[in-house]
Amino acid sequence: MPTSSQVLVLNCGSSSLKFAVIDPRNGDLSVSGIGEALGEEEPQIKWSIHGQKFATSLPGDARHTEVIRFLVEQILNDKPELRDHLVAIGHRVVHGGEKFSHSVLINDAVINAIQECVALAPLHNPAHLQGIQAAREAFPELPQVAVFDTAFHQSMPRHAFVYALPFALYRDHGIRRYGMHGTSHRFVTERAAELLNLPVNEVNIISAHLGNGASITAIHNGRSIDTSMGLTPLEGLVMGTRCGDVDPGLLMHLSSRLDYCMKEISDMLNKKSGLLGISELSNDCRALEQAASEGHDGAQLAMDIFCYRLAKYIGAYHAVLPQVDALVFTGGIGENSSLVREKVLGQLRGLGYELDLGKNARARFGEEGPIASDRSCVTLVIPTNEEWVIARDAAELVPPDTPNHDPSVRE
Ligand code: ADP
Repeated sequence: MPTSSQVLVLNCGSSSLKFAVIDPRNGDLSVSGIGEALGEEEPQIKWSIHGQKFATSLPGDARHTEVIRFLVEQILNDKPELRDHLVAIGHRVVHGGEKFSHSVLINDAVINAIQECVALAPLHNPAHLQGIQAAREAFPELPQVAVFDTAFHQSMPRHAFVYALPFALYRDHGIRRYGMHGTSHRFVTERAAELLNLPVNEVNIISAHLGNGASITAIHNGRSIDTSMGLTPLEGLVMGTRCGDVDPGLLMHLSSRLDYCMKEISDMLNKKSGLLGISELSNDCRALEQAASEGHDGAQLAMDIFCYRLAKYIGAYHAVLPQVDALVFTGGIGENSSLVREKVLGQLRGLGYELDLGKNARARFGEEGPIASDRSCVTLVIPTNEEWVIARDAAELVPPDTPNHDPSVRE
């Protein structure tokens, strides 16, 4: 039975709300769950407590508020050992624009700033604001903390984040590269420093976060100096359903020659491209690996393009870093697909990478560690844990006069 401080971590999407109760000291997860299809016909909630799984449907009009109410009244109500030790709520917030380079305690000014960034994340930021409002009502006594996906990349220098567009678009409208997945890149940076026995502010790594969304970051002395996502998450690597880098001339071509409207272009680039678009089969790496092994040409091509484009970015980030202490793979694909890692390192032999087949095969399903030979540039698999970072940041920002405040979480 936990007696130490717990943090409730909330991740609100447009039609979903993921929640987790985490011990910020060690990342132990006691409750996790998701409310899904919110605002749709059959919303439902699934959760697990200490590994035991439950699920039920929610009323037809359920939104984020109802999920939080269910969490408080049905899930935490008979778990006083968790509920009574909550010290803070940590919210994942996708876009903090240029205002936030760190996590912050939420107050009205922060809420206004998140509101101002709605134009930059029209699907996500409004959902985060709903979640923050609902959590404030449900837990008026607890401090709420915002942890931004963009914050880690605020250290990028101007030459990395300004597009080669008329400068007024940046100056007047904030059109620039922001980057995402910052919480994950930060987690693996800190963990890589531990594994490499280096202080965080001296570690230089290339961090490849490969999930349904994918991005890669060049980290110099513990700080992001370049990343592959841009103004939106569309830029950069090939992803599950997103295209990554394309010639912007494509947009004019689609519009003027093929009569696409803006909504069709947006749907195609975000939801019908990437692994799914190329393979005409699936956005799921596991399914594509299987199909490719059975001779499906589209699946093979999708995997080839995914790995080739990733290897090109790794090469580019070698060029911008003064040295690379390690290349790190994380995210569902990075942590589990030994095939993707093998293909990428095979492409990078000229840069001094050489896979250790045995270590690569073993680094799956949560296993952490090196996957390259002793002669090779160091290559690590590090399972990411964004929720733990959010819980840690939230616990560290708890003001001393808060109920349940426990100064030892800062140790
Ligand atoms: P999200 O961005 O939604 O958080 P994840 O980080 O969970 O995504 O990654 C999902 C991706 O990881 C999917 O493409 C899935 O196929 C892939 N993946 C998960 N397990 C494996 C595995 N054992 N082998 C290959 N790919 C895997």
